[in-house]
Amino acid sequence: MTEHENRVVSGVQKRLFIDGKWVDATDGATFDVLDPATGEVLCAVADASPQDGRAALDAAVAAQPEFAALPPRERADMLTGAFELLHERIDDLALLMTLEMGKPLAEARGEITYAAEFFRHFAAEAVRIDGGYQTAPAGGSRFLIARQPVGPCLLITPWNFPMAMGTRKLGPAIAAGCTSVIKPAHQTPLSMLALMDILSEVGVPAGAVNCVTAMDAGGVMEPLIRSGLARKLSFTGSTKVGRMLLEQCAEKILRTSLELGGNAPLIVFEDADLDEAVEGAILAKMRNMGEACTAANRLFVHSSVIDEFGRRLAERMAEMPVGRGTEDGVRVGPLIDEAALQKVTSLVDDAVKRGATVLTGGSAPSGPGFFYPPTVLSGVPRDAEMVGQEIFGPVAPLTPFDTEEEAVAAANDTEYGLVSYVFTNDLRRALRVAEALETGMVGLNQGIVSNPAAPFGGIKESGLGREGGAVGIDEFLETKYVGIKM
Ligand code: NAP
Repeated sequence: MTEHENRVVSGVQKRLFIDGKWVDATDGATFDVLDPATGEVLCAVADASPQDGRAALDAAVAAQPEFAALPPRERADMLTGAFELLHERIDDLALLMTLEMGKPLAEARGEITYAAEFFRHFAAEAVRIDGGYQTAPAGGSRFLIARQPVGPCLLITPWNFPMAMGTRKLGPAIAAGCTSVIKPAHQTPLSMLALMDILSEVGVPAGAVNCVTAMDAGGVMEPLIRSGLARKLSFTGSTKVGRMLLEQCAEKILRTSLELGGNAPLIVFEDADLDEAVEGAILAKMRNMGEACTAANRLFVHSSVIDEFGRRLAERMAEMPVGRGTEDGVRVGPLIDEAALQKVTSLVDDAVKRGATVLTGGSAPSGPGFFYPPTVLSGVPRDAEMVGQEIFGPVAPLTPFDTEEEAVAAANDTEYGLVSYVFTNDLRRALRVAEALETGMVGLNQGIVSNPAAPFGGIKESGLGREGGAVGIDEFLETKYVGIKM
C-alpha cells in the first residue's frame, strides 16, 4: 500500500457503530479485509457476536418512536447533508472502495455519485409522503388514509456495490422515518463504516442507524430476524441466501424486500445499430468487471450479424486494460476473491469443453490478485453451465438465434427475472419484445438501467419489491386506514 492508501484506510473506524457510538465487538474479535488486487490484508475490522447484533437492534428499536416523530424536513436535511459530504469526500471514498473491492477508481467514483444520488432522491421523497381522505361509497363515513414508517429495519448488503446498495436502503429508510441495523458484506465493510461517520456528522440521531460487521452473517442476523423486534428485512444478495431469509422472515411475518440474483439476456436483432449494440454490450457486461446482478449473462445475437458483432465486441474487450484499480487507465480490476476466480475459470472451461470458441481472453493470468481477462466466447451451447447461472465475471457468451420468438423464449428460459437488454431499430418489435420479456426491467438500446429515480427490481426468483423511483419509499411505509363515522 502507498502512504496515501494507508492514510485513507487508517482514517476509517474499524468498529461497530451502535447507538451513535463506535464500540469493539464484545469479545474483541476481528476479521481481516483483503485487497483483491494483491490478496494482502488491508486491515482488520470488528467481528460482531450475536449479542452485538442484538445490542444494535435494541438501539434501533429504542430510537424508533423519536425518529419517526421528527419533522420530515429534518430527515430530508440529513439526507441532503450526507449527499453533499459524499461528494466532498469522493476521492478518499472511491479509493477506499477500490482497495476493498477492486473496481477501477473511475468506477468507484461513479458508484459514490450513484450512491449519493439515492440520498438526494429520497430527501425529496421524505417531504412528499402523502395520504388520503375520501367519502365512503355509501356516504356517511369517511376514510382517512395515512402512511407511517414500517418500524425498525434489518438491512443486508452485498460486496459488489459496497456503498450504493447501502444508500439505496438507508435513503428510503431515513426518509420514511425507519431506524435500522445495516450489515455490509464481510469482504467490503469499509465503505459502509465510512458512511456511518457521515450520517453521524449530518445529525442522524443515535440509534437511528447502526452498523454491524461480522464474519458469521447468519449467526448474527438470524436471531434478529426471528426476534420479532425488527419489522422489516431489506436484503440484496444471492437468490440462495434471499430464499433462506424469506423463510426466516415468515415466522414473524416481516415486511420483506429482496433484490436477488440475475441472469440477464441481451438480445441483438438483425436491424440493430451494431455500434450501439457493441457499446451497450460492453456497458451491460463490463460494468463492475461483470460482477453485477444486472450484468448481461447471455448474449443472443441474430445469426446474420453474430460474426460481425462478435468480432467487434472481442476487439473492444481485448483492448480494456486489466490491473489494480488504483492504477491509471485500468478498466478491469480483479474479481472479489479466490472463490470468484475459480468459479469464472471453471464456467469458461466448461463452455469450451462443450464446444464454445474463445474470441478473446479465456484464461486467468498467474497471481497475485484475483484477475480474469475480458473474455468473449462464441457458439456457447444452451446446456453450458454459464447459461444457467450468474457468471459474475467479465465473460460474454454469444449464442445465435434466427427468429424473434426463439430469442424471447431463450431469454425467458431461466428462473431469474431481473433485467434484459434489447437492441433493435424496429419500434414495434422493441415494444413487443419488452412486453414479452419476463424481467422487472428492460434496457432498450442501452446497456445500463440503474437510476435512483427509476424503480429497480426483479420478478420470478430475482426478488420482491422495488428500490428507488417514486415507489422506493413505499417499501418502508405502512398504510393505515382510519374509518370515521360522521
Ligand atoms: P450473498 O452471499 O447472498 O451475500 C449478500 C449478503 O448477505 C452479505 O452481506 C452476506 O454476508 C449476507 N449473508 C450471507 N449469508 C447470510 C445468512 N445466512 N444470513 C444473513 N445474511 C447472510 O451474495 P454476494 O455474493 O455477496 O453478492 C452477490 C449476489 O448479490 C449476486 O447474486 C448478485 O446478483 C446479487 N445482487 C443483486 C442485486 C440486485 O439489486 N438485485 C444487486 C447487487 C447484487 P457475508 O458476505 O458477510 O457472508
